This record gives sequence, structure tokens and C-alpha cells, in this order.
Amino acid sequence: MKIDTIISKMLTQLSMIGILGLASMAQAEVSVLTTVSDLNAIVQEVGGKEVKSESLCKGSQDPHYVEPKPSFMLKANKADLMVSIGLGLEIGWLPSIIQGARNPKIQPGQPGFLEVGRSVTTLEVQNGKVTRAEGDVHPEGNPHITLDPIRAGELAQTIAKRLGEIDPPHAALYKSRADVLQKRLVDKTKGWGERISKTGVKQVVSFHKTLTYFFDRFNLQNPMILEPLPGVPPTAKHTMEVIERAKADKINLIMVENFFDATVANRIAKDVPGLRVEVVPVSVDGEEKIRSIDDLYEYLVSAIEGKAKHG
Ligand SMILES: [Zn+2]
Repeated sequence: MKIDTIISKMLTQLSMIGILGLASMAQAEVSVLTTVSDLNAIVQEVGGKEVKSESLCKGSQDPHYVEPKPSFMLKANKADLMVSIGLGLEIGWLPSIIQGARNPKIQPGQPGFLEVGRSVTTLEVQNGKVTRAEGDVHPEGNPHITLDPIRAGELAQTIAKRLGEIDPPHAALYKSRADVLQKRLVDKTKGWGERISKTGVKQVVSFHKTLTYFFDRFNLQNPMILEPLPGVPPTAKHTMEVIERAKADKINLIMVENFFDATVANRIAKDVPGLRVEVVPVSVDGEEKIRSIDDLYEYLVSAIEGKAKHG
């Protein structure tokens, strides 16, 4: 049987279950799907008990490459709202899920389709023509916007606004929860900034440009990444360049996003005196104890301090 036929059969069965189910229980919650776990954490806080939400991509997974499984299409079929980053992050997998979902509510242009990336200022916007020769670049800017606590607060407002449009009776409630989240992150960012500046760490090498917004927020430079080009694994030549630069600039920290291989970073650390490697989660649920968006930033700050505990 073709996958299309299977999905269509499953959908028919599901809608029958749905009809029977509706008779017995009133469906009050707004059903939300998010592409990534950081967005899910924000939706859950802003939505509270009025919303049920889950993420398609796990926090320990590379969000650029996700397999568009039929089970994702079934989930998307029942969603009232699909929240994604946009900015090209999910371009390789989200369109086929939305198409396979056959859910008119979540199609682009509909209220049930929300790309939050455009609601914040992006970094690394590419001017002029971008070709694949420059690697897996995102012309509209770096899509890893949730790594900045201040932008995360702004995203909470964007999400609250859309939830309020879909579910007007609770609009004020969503807005007030977004305000609480945003204020809390603004307050905590001051403390995180102070802790980072006390460490004396000024430059950090990362594997991919995942932490760009975090580094920018806390005045850390990211002079090199281990990928020679975005999405391209480290080469021997590029690794040598990183070693030379790290020695010359006395760089003492490499942060490796935990869905990438730390082998190259560990090899570099052997050659560069004083250089430390921290393998870090970069999403909520990226490690088991990273339960909230606050936990994520807290972990990254403690990794820079050399105090992060894994697990
Ligand atoms: Zn990326």
C-alpha cells in the first residue's frame, strides 16, 4: 500500500473516532503543534491548561533535519495551530508534514499557521544572492532565535497574540501569561549576564551557529565554528585553522551542541593548552533535566562558568 493510501485510511478512522468522541466530551483546549521544543515550552507556559501542545522535533535532535514521519502528519491533521520558527529552519521537513496533514486550518496564510521568526530582529541576514556553495545558509537570518532569552520573551507575546485570535475568550489570559514569562526572562538575563562577565570568557568556538543569539546577548564572540560552512562537517584543514586561531587568541572554550559529534572538539582541546570542551543541550528537553526555557539558559550559563552538570 502506498504511504498516501495508508495515511488516508488512518485519517478516515481517526475522524470517525473523533465524531464518536465529540458526543461524549466537549473539546475545550486549543491543540497546538510546534516544530521545536523551545517553542513548545513557550506555548505550554502561555497556553496553560487552555492549550495542549507538543513538539515534533525532540530537544536532543538537530532541528534542520527531521524525518517527516506519517505519525507527524496524523498529529498535524488534528492541530488547531502549527507554530514554527520559519527563516528556513524547517524548510526540509515541515512543508511535507503540512501537505500530508490535509488540515485546512494549518496551511500557510491561515490563522492556524504561525511562523514566529519574522516577529523578532534576526542576525546574520544575508544580502545579495546566496548559493548552496556557501553551505546550508539561511538568507533571512540565523533561525536559532530561541537561544536568546530576550527574544524568547518577544516570541511569547507573538504566540499569545495568535492564541488569542484563535481562542478569543482567553486572549487576555494568554497575554498576561506572556507578560509574566517575558518579565521573568528580562530580569534573569541581567543576572546571567553578570555571571558570564565574571567568568572572563570572551570568545567561544561552537560546532554550528546555533548559539549565535545567546553569544550576542551576552557579549561573547564566536570567532570560529567547527563546521567549515554551515551544515558541512569539520574538515582536517579547517580543524587546523581552528587550532591555530585558538592558540593565537587564547580561546579557552568550545561549546558543542549535543546533537553533534564532539570528537573533533576533543582533539582540538588536546592541542590547545587551557581549552575546555563543553557538550551542551541547546533546546528544552535537550537533556532530561532541561525542562523549561529558563533551565536551558541556566545550563548554558553554568557551562560557561565550568559548573554544568550533565544528566
Ligand atoms: Zn542552523
